[in-house]
Amino acid sequence: MIAMDSFAEDSSKRAPRRELEYVPVPAFEDNYIWLVSDSCDAVVIDPGDAAPVEAYLAERGWRLTAILLTHHHRDHVGGVKALLDSRSDEGIPVYGPAGERIEHLTGRLAGGDTVRIAQPEVSFTVMDVPGHTAGHIAYFREDDGSGTPHVFCGDTLFASGCGRLFEGTPQQMLTSLDALAALPDATLVHCAHEYTLSNIRFARACEPDSVALARWSDEAQALRAAGKPTLPTTIGHEKALNPFLRVDQPAIRAALVAQFKEPVAGRTEAFRMLRGWKDNFR
Ligand code: ZN
Ligand code: FE
Repeated sequence: MIAMDSFAEDSSKRAPRRELEYVPVPAFEDNYIWLVSDSCDAVVIDPGDAAPVEAYLAERGWRLTAILLTHHHRDHVGGVKALLDSRSDEGIPVYGPAGERIEHLTGRLAGGDTVRIAQPEVSFTVMDVPGHTAGHIAYFREDDGSGTPHVFCGDTLFASGCGRLFEGTPQQMLTSLDALAALPDATLVHCAHEYTLSNIRFARACEPDSVALARWSDEAQALRAAGKPTLPTTIGHEKALNPFLRVDQPAIRAALVAQFKEPVAGRTEAFRMLRGWKDNFR
């Protein structure tokens, strides 16, 4: 047993695992930088800071082979240069949105593109999800070998919330969230921030009678109290609890009417009102 453990520490003697591991590395106040690894090699998604990624790679003995970016914000791209500088002879590819100005990109992606990585062996379909930023993309893995899909959605969809509209319109963001909601319910959603507890407070203001939300609130608080992430979430979970995926629900429409004292003219308007409410919610 002990011999096996010490053998497993040396990555050069390790065989890559078929089933990939998805790890949220905490960064800054509330970011998660996701790593996907076969226990030898790893890809990183949205490395806003290099230091926590380097520390984690060293701890696990993983080699970085590719960088994937969802959008241009500093807290998602700030660590790219340092990660590349310490591996300058390895030609690490850096994939990101074609529609945004980001330094060091070697692969410019748009909706419908496929990214194939050899080590770890993984491929992603690219989705256009504008709204938080104008060119924001997401990375979807249809099947991890056990039938479970995965999506890396940056700052578009969060557990019980969604990203702020810095560059896009409510209509764009709603279309992006609709596309994410159309993924299979079992899809694991790897969000880029731990905003869950404050998002739940807002969700409960929208749907105070939801027993499911009350239960999720307790669960999420217990996870955070234990120092654990509340992620990944799933598309099915978000469709049941996330107000931003529930703009067609009578309970959400009624909450908007009660909050704004005016009628709601359609679902885009409902989304716009909901996002505005959340922007000012304390
Ligand atoms: Zn952002
Ligand atoms: Fe962010």
